[in-house]
Amino acid sequence: MLTTRPRGTNDILPGEVGKWQQLEKILRHVSRLYGYREIRTPIFEHTELFQRGVGETTDIVEKEMYNFTTKGDKSFSLRPEGTAPTVRAFVENKLYAEPQPTKLYYIGPMFRHDKPQAGRYRQFHQYGVEVFGSSDPAIDAEVIAMAMDIYARLGLKDLRVELNSVGCPQCRPVHRRELQNYLQGKKEQLCPTCQGRFERNPMRILDCKVQSCQELVREAPTIDQYLCPVCRENFQAVQKQLTALGVDFHLNPRLVRGLDYYVQTAFEIVAQGIGAQSSIGGGGRYDGLVEQVGGPAMPGIGFALGLERILLAMEQQGLSLAEEDRVDVYLAILGEKAKIPGAVLAQKLRQAGLAVERDYQGRSLKAQLKSADRLGVKYTLILGEDEIKNDQVVLRNMQDGSQVVLSLAEAAGYLQQEISKEETRI
Ligand code: AMP
Repeated sequence: MLTTRPRGTNDILPGEVGKWQQLEKILRHVSRLYGYREIRTPIFEHTELFQRGVGETTDIVEKEMYNFTTKGDKSFSLRPEGTAPTVRAFVENKLYAEPQPTKLYYIGPMFRHDKPQAGRYRQFHQYGVEVFGSSDPAIDAEVIAMAMDIYARLGLKDLRVELNSVGCPQCRPVHRRELQNYLQGKKEQLCPTCQGRFERNPMRILDCKVQSCQELVREAPTIDQYLCPVCRENFQAVQKQLTALGVDFHLNPRLVRGLDYYVQTAFEIVAQGIGAQSSIGGGGRYDGLVEQVGGPAMPGIGFALGLERILLAMEQQGLSLAEEDRVDVYLAILGEKAKIPGAVLAQKLRQAGLAVERDYQGRSLKAQLKSADRLGVKYTLILGEDEIKNDQVVLRNMQDGSQVVLSLAEAAGYLQQEISKEETRI
């Protein structure tokens, strides 16, 4: 074998692709219910978009981006997340000039060079939504409720919404100072990453996963004690709306999302029992980002859900998504003379909307019926030389072995009718 797939990437094989398609179908359906339209942005962007739009001090930008240069010496990056590209497209295409709010969604691959493990990949997929142009706490609550609605439709249980307000440029610096004061004498005991964070982004020390750091910050001041009146009131309003919508949540004053641009509402959705990588979605408000990327001052909020982790959590909970790639009918073609009429019949059936699998190798009837069984089809059409002479074809019901003879002209119509009868019964 020449080589293998890059570490941390996955082949989604034909046997699994049905559940991905189903999941995507549900995501598109729910997007429409909540008034979101799809946006598709490039897989790579100018590196500076992420440096400015995600933040230089974040793990994503500092350590995890796939960067490359091309002949003109420009640096590009494979997108590590979907918000900055969506904001860039929103600004560049002047979508802000349309009536607001603008509600967009995306589905696609993201790339982060992190250490691969179960639930953490270097290429993974996210579904995300972004709302521009409204700072109403109703939107904050609605996007969280929407994420929970998606999980509920998939049948997922035992999820936990963790909620925080990370403050704003008015109140956050006060907390930051207090936190630095508190940690000053303990700096040497922090993990190397957190020592680096001390100056640049001390709030991130609060949600460091390293045990010794967690112990050091146990008594550290948290943002909830420093929220300004505006942020406090906003946070209360979000909680009130969530309660009204029936969404359970847990306040977590240590929740600091990875990205620099978050203000006020920050949330994460955690699935119990899928291992260390338990976050299946997260998001928050990023009111300064549109301006940062070069657009007008305009608020924004969004979330991203990890599709691999959703599927992992579903598997863990014994939930499955119906496969879509069903074959309606197998066409057994017997003998040399049946080859061309067989090809013509297969084409006709497909044009009539039936999914057809057929033989290409001139195998025995027994071998062809075995293939039909393996595909799990309910019907097989048998076309041999005798049938061709009479412009007929045999229809075999694979469940009870009964057979009827149909004229070639009526076969497609008859099968369509039988299959639609079954679908209404289901
Ligand atoms: P983030 O963009 O970091 O807020 O991540 C949003 C969601 O994407 C997380 O809750 C995960 O479900 C998923 N996610 C993030 N990073 C990875 C990764 N490396 N592999 C798989 N899923 C990921």
